[in-house]
Amino acid sequence: MSEFRTLRGMRDFLPDETGLLRSIEGKAREVARLYGYREVITPVLESYELLAAKAGEEVRTRMYAFKDLGGRMVALRPEFTASIARLVAVTLRNEPKPIRLYCIGSLYRYDEPQKGRFREFWQSNFELIGSDKAEADSEILLLTNRFMKAVGLKGYVFKVSHIGILRSIFGREGVAEDAQNRALQLMDKKMYDEALSLLRDAGASEKCLKTVKEIVEIKGSNVNSILAEIEKLIQDYEEAVYALKNLARILKLVEAHALNVTVDAGFARGLEYYTGIIFEVYVPELNIALAGGGRYDRLVELFGGEPTPAVGVAHGLDRIMLAVQEQNAPLETRKANAAALIATNETLAPEGIRIAEMLRSEGVPVEMEVMGRRVTKALEDADRRGAPYVVLVGEKELTENSVVLRDMHKKQQQVVKIEDLAKILKDLGI
Ligand code: AMP
Repeated sequence: MSEFRTLRGMRDFLPDETGLLRSIEGKAREVARLYGYREVITPVLESYELLAAKAGEEVRTRMYAFKDLGGRMVALRPEFTASIARLVAVTLRNEPKPIRLYCIGSLYRYDEPQKGRFREFWQSNFELIGSDKAEADSEILLLTNRFMKAVGLKGYVFKVSHIGILRSIFGREGVAEDAQNRALQLMDKKMYDEALSLLRDAGASEKCLKTVKEIVEIKGSNVNSILAEIEKLIQDYEEAVYALKNLARILKLVEAHALNVTVDAGFARGLEYYTGIIFEVYVPELNIALAGGGRYDRLVELFGGEPTPAVGVAHGLDRIMLAVQEQNAPLETRKANAAALIATNETLAPEGIRIAEMLRSEGVPVEMEVMGRRVTKALEDADRRGAPYVVLVGEKELTENSVVLRDMHKKQQQVVKIEDLAKILKDLGI
């Protein structure tokens, strides 16, 4: 048979990488606890129709979609938000608001693999449902900030805008929603000329195109002056001004909390369901977004629920992991290695297992020698595995209810009573 490998864009996480991913997840869970978000688990497989509804062209065309054996069109989830909106529209429809939910899991997109872009990737996803207030948006920004800080990242920047600024302008110009979506997709890829010519074809006036062009060029971290500049440009578009004021209020609420914010009104996100603030998080070392989110006030309704405002964020755990590695962020991932336990001959195996089980019951991790190696070889192996201590179960010591405890670094050993062994190992940090 040929040698099997993972599929393109898919990867195995080896123990060290898994450890890193899990400790990043642990930080996300801690953030969830601090802000009162409760975990839900939704299926990896959902109806294609649900996932495709508002995913946007880019994501929609990259879904792993297929007919199941019952003839239903299904797909592997490319994101979490559609599933959460379904949950809120149907199962949790009578739940008092706000609802704070989070989920962690794998997503699937047939993206072109490159650094930080995989076909299976991981997210922690936070959704705050039921509030249309700026306080809710600010909470999503603040918890994302806390998460980035908790994993030890430095120099990260929030790129923010409000999708209502561009959409209101396009809408006033009579640009149909479909054309708006395509124009925003192009802008998301920084293909501004193509976006402008599409808008022109869709009926936008020259004045509008000029305004859009100018908006796209304004960006920067001096939030108040950038917002004022944009406001000047969009005076004639009342709804756009309203959107801008909403963005200003959200940013005011986070002002005191040291978020590094860049306003970039020309940026758009791939997903079509956003109605309010949109944002992404970047670190200087990588030119791909570590997280992305925004407000989506109509999605729950689209799935048959009550009109329900909502705001959320997806943190890309693979990319956060990359950023942590690039920055050498001091994230604690490894616990002390287990102690090794070696029965010095085969007949002592039952006693060895008994002692190992006793230690585990006391919470001490033990790796038992199971290869039938002789003591010298077994000690070499324990050394290779980085076991800091080895318990040698020998005939002579057993007659005195004792074992030999060997310190692998100091290369010293002592005889200790079996009844004291767990405490001694714990005191040694195992
Ligand atoms: P999105 O759902 O497209 O807004 O993505 C949210 C976050 O998920 C992004 O900021 C990335 O960190 C992460 N992400 C999206 N697509 C991929 C991918 N193909 N590989 C790795 N991470 C991804």
